[in-house]
Amino acid sequence: MFSDIIGQENVIAHLQNALRTGSISHAYILCGDRGSGKKLLARTFAQTMLCRDVRMTEHGPEACGECPSCVKALSDSHPDIRTITHEKPASIGVEEIRALRQDVQVVPYESAHKVYLIPEAEKLTVQAQNALLKTLEEPPSYAVLLLLAEDVTAFLPTILSRSVTLRMRPLSAEQVAAYLQRERADIPARYLPLYASLSGGNIGRALACADSETFAASCEALLRILRNVPGTDIMTFLSFIREEGTDPDTVIDLLTAWYRDVALLKRTGEASALIFREEIKYISQCAAALSYAGLEKIFAALLRAGRQLKANGNTELILEMLFVGIRDAYKE
Ligand SMILES: [Zn+2]
Repeated sequence: MFSDIIGQENVIAHLQNALRTGSISHAYILCGDRGSGKKLLARTFAQTMLCRDVRMTEHGPEACGECPSCVKALSDSHPDIRTITHEKPASIGVEEIRALRQDVQVVPYESAHKVYLIPEAEKLTVQAQNALLKTLEEPPSYAVLLLLAEDVTAFLPTILSRSVTLRMRPLSAEQVAAYLQRERADIPARYLPLYASLSGGNIGRALACADSETFAASCEALLRILRNVPGTDIMTFLSFIREEGTDPDTVIDLLTAWYRDVALLKRTGEASALIFREEIKYISQCAAALSYAGLEKIFAALLRAGRQLKANGNTELILEMLFVGIRDAYKE
């Protein structure tokens, strides 16, 4: 149901309004990062469109979840919901769209609409987009195309002008934490604020952290270092980098989260909003050991290292310089 989806209120309001007023467009582009929930939204929209017993709730139309159409939609076996797959991993070619164009001429089996989901639609080649355009120019009344894309710059202006573009927004850290708490009882509570904070508002990224076999262990290893940075030599830090094999961006995110906690505690004395709440003892030691000038140096060093990593610098050297910079900041 739409009401089970966390966040994306604007997109949901638009889609529910289209369902309520019967003004469903022939093409939508759902645009958002990987893991932002595009597919879930598209599937919910398709299911509600085809549901035989749509319920009007205070928020808007919702699928019943029980009629034969909903049962098929939920088990991914609805004959009127088609997902376009592609053989080449990097592109969706004109052959795939030709097949869609043929299929779209066949009237729906059992519904008023026939819905086509095109995941990774940013991979449509120019030829494929031109082929698709023919369908968008004269779509059969029942056809609805849902293009899911990470980025709309890949689309021809003619595709964009014939589609309704809806943008997914990042969730707040609280929304991500609430989702994890509701859906994933297996995640230890102390990790929820951390995963939510590292997710950047993207549930897919939060789940990737939670489901990683190595993440929790390497996080613990890094925490052991962070509890006593002035007493840790560079070799210990380097062997952490080499042995744990943690992705360098994640190392920077974890360090940023830790020093954000230190700065927050130093400024406010308030522990309830800390990401590493269970580390309060060490966070307060750190807050006492670091001056504000030292903290500023650390955040500057973290930003610099992040930029250098983006520019594809030598990872180990960048992280080594970062650690040296952080340790020096304790002397400020
Ligand atoms: Zn239904």
